[in-house]
Amino acid sequence: MLDIRWKAGLLLCALSVICAFLWLIISAKVALIAFTLGLLIYLISHIAWLHQLHVWFKNPVVAEIPEGAGVWEDVFTALLKYARDNINNQTQLSSALERFTLTANAIPDGLVILGASNEIEWCTPHAENQLGLNFSTDKNLPIVNLVRDSHFIAYLYNADYGEPFKLKSWQNPEIVFEIQLITFGANQKLLICRDTTQLEKVEIMRRDFIANVSHELRTPLTVVGGFLETLGDMQGAVPDAIKSYFGMMQEQTNRMRRIIEDLLTLSKIESNIEEPENTEIDMPSLLKQIQKDALGLSHSLYKTKHAIELEVDQTLTITGAQSELQSALSNLVSNAVRYTPKGGKIAISWHRQNGQAVFAVRDTGIGIEPQHIERLTERFYRVDRGRSRETGGTGLGLSIVKHILIRHQAKLEISSEIGVGSTFSVLFPKSRIVLAPQLKQA
Ligand code: ADP
Repeated sequence: MLDIRWKAGLLLCALSVICAFLWLIISAKVALIAFTLGLLIYLISHIAWLHQLHVWFKNPVVAEIPEGAGVWEDVFTALLKYARDNINNQTQLSSALERFTLTANAIPDGLVILGASNEIEWCTPHAENQLGLNFSTDKNLPIVNLVRDSHFIAYLYNADYGEPFKLKSWQNPEIVFEIQLITFGANQKLLICRDTTQLEKVEIMRRDFIANVSHELRTPLTVVGGFLETLGDMQGAVPDAIKSYFGMMQEQTNRMRRIIEDLLTLSKIESNIEEPENTEIDMPSLLKQIQKDALGLSHSLYKTKHAIELEVDQTLTITGAQSELQSALSNLVSNAVRYTPKGGKIAISWHRQNGQAVFAVRDTGIGIEPQHIERLTERFYRVDRGRSRETGGTGLGLSIVKHILIRHQAKLEISSEIGVGSTFSVLFPKSRIVLAPQLKQA
């Protein structure tokens, strides 16, 4: 097919040839008049088609695009193709949008998209019900104006969304939601709100069950343990033939007692939703005490003492629940003793690092293979059951540590190498560090 420019050029050439012919056979005047008339007709036809195009643009219905003639036939054909493609794209886009909206609305979790200033850009009807929003009136309003829970606001601004956040429904405090924020795009956030009321109830039942069973077992065990102790103290009460079995009974009873005590401690910490008390902790003396206890443990387990070094930044103080933190940190140090063979070294340090307060305990012990590290804080997860038992372990120590640290917004980091040793570090956030008096005044 000929190009528009060729078509127009050929038409003008034909007119010029006809006029030249008229000049030759009639006169220049007739040729000029014919040329002028030809151009005029050509111009009028263009104006007429331009007018048609203008009229169509006022009401651009695809079926009514004029067919056109000459060069205008090509123009209108191209316009028709463009309009059809446009309609196809629009149909595809709106069906994709409809599919997305239907899918998003079918998700039982509430979804909210927040803009750079945490304003509501979009949300699903489930999110409206769960969070008490109304999209038509709340669009572009900051979410903190509508969800006013102070913990939620702190979670939103903290920008650490690794762990989900639990939010009680303001309409019904029995309903508990789990809020997870995910950042994406240009500083936008996706808020996922999941109703975890049922899960929470099951979790409470599990915790209560463990606490009740532990409680119920504690009394009979204390009685059995007491009798065994009394029998052991009575001269000749235990015949020599069964002395070794008797020793095993005492050992196992003590082990069960330790497990029950740890289970009770764990369920107490887990079910405690109150914020931990925020007293200033005298870390230098707390760590000195932990070092002393560790030396005692080392002596009772190995009949010799490990070298236990202590390096403390005396100016670094944090706030928290003293008894909980003492239990968590001494747990890590006693593990270092229990999993480091005779003659090994243990280094405890308390220092600042990148604005955080860091407690670290490094040992030259047996080390841990990388595949176990992720799972160490699970209840009863032990790499070597035998060694754990021999050294009086219950398999619950690191679970207790984890829960105490969560309550203090602290993080546990573990690095280890088989045969070389392990380092357990606890990172306390800046917000827990007590400022020196001169900084407080500034
Ligand atoms: P346990 O009472 O068995 O020590 P924990 O919860 O305290 O239970 O620790 C879980 C497991 O982690 C232990 O059984 C042990 O395998 C491993 N572990 C903990 N601390 C250390 C360490 N410092 N060195 C090597 N292994 C360790």
